Amino acid sequence: MSRTAIAADTDESPDKPSVKTLQMIWKEGADWKSVELLKRPNAGVVLNTAIPSVNGLQAYEHNYYTNEQFYRHDEKRGVLKNVYGQRCMRVSEDFMIAMLGALDDEVGQAAATEIMYKCGYQWGLEDMKTFCRRSQAEFEVELEKMRVGFLLEEWWWPLTITGWGTWRYDFRQKEKGLLYVELYESAVAKSIGDIGAAVCYFYAGMFAAVFSVLSRRNLASVEMQCYSMGEDHCRFVIADYDKVDAAGFWRSQGATAKDIMKKLSVM
Ligand SMILES: [Zn+2]
Repeated sequence: MSRTAIAADTDESPDKPSVKTLQMIWKEGADWKSVELLKRPNAGVVLNTAIPSVNGLQAYEHNYYTNEQFYRHDEKRGVLKNVYGQRCMRVSEDFMIAMLGALDDEVGQAAATEIMYKCGYQWGLEDMKTFCRRSQAEFEVELEKMRVGFLLEEWWWPLTITGWGTWRYDFRQKEKGLLYVELYESAVAKSIGDIGAAVCYFYAGMFAAVFSVLSRRNLASVEMQCYSMGEDHCRFVIADYDKVDAAGFWRSQGATAKDIMKKLSVM
């Protein structure tokens, strides 16, 4: 390993991977094993430069977002897996409240929010590692050939069926380095209810990781408004660290999402 490579690796931290790591996640090839359950008899294992247009039945099933199709329950072994073969656990709102409350009691609120963000970040990173490989196989096409909007919807669907809510992204200010996400029915905020504070740190970390991989640069995220602050949905900004730090500070000073967005657009 060269001296430069060592220097680059030491700059890396779990929630701030090097650009090289982000590029590697993006460049991994198709994982055909992960789509074994979606495979139809006419399916091949060849990556194309465009999504193959098929008359009639597609080679891989794409519309599997109902409970019956998405989950595979082995009652004898007590094992629940999803359609990609990943092990799952279904939990109640009480579980969420207990888990978050226990974390708070154990380490205090400030550290708990940081831990949740970091967990969300790792979740997003791991999710992208499997998603980038799986989506290439499912659609039989190289990652680069899929449009970002298509990739994003494809990435989010499993989160909707697994109960993490619905979303809408807004890239209209991407030239200014500002990506926005609106989240409806946040599993965290809906469990906790209105407590007058933002609580969706898992999501903020996850968005930071996912958009870092998609853009192959380090981004952070902060929630600007939350269902748990009495709003009807949650809103996040994903951007460079300095912008996200500023947005977090403004929120702590009582700025609304609208105020924050206005300030960020002239930063
Ligand atoms: Zn929220």
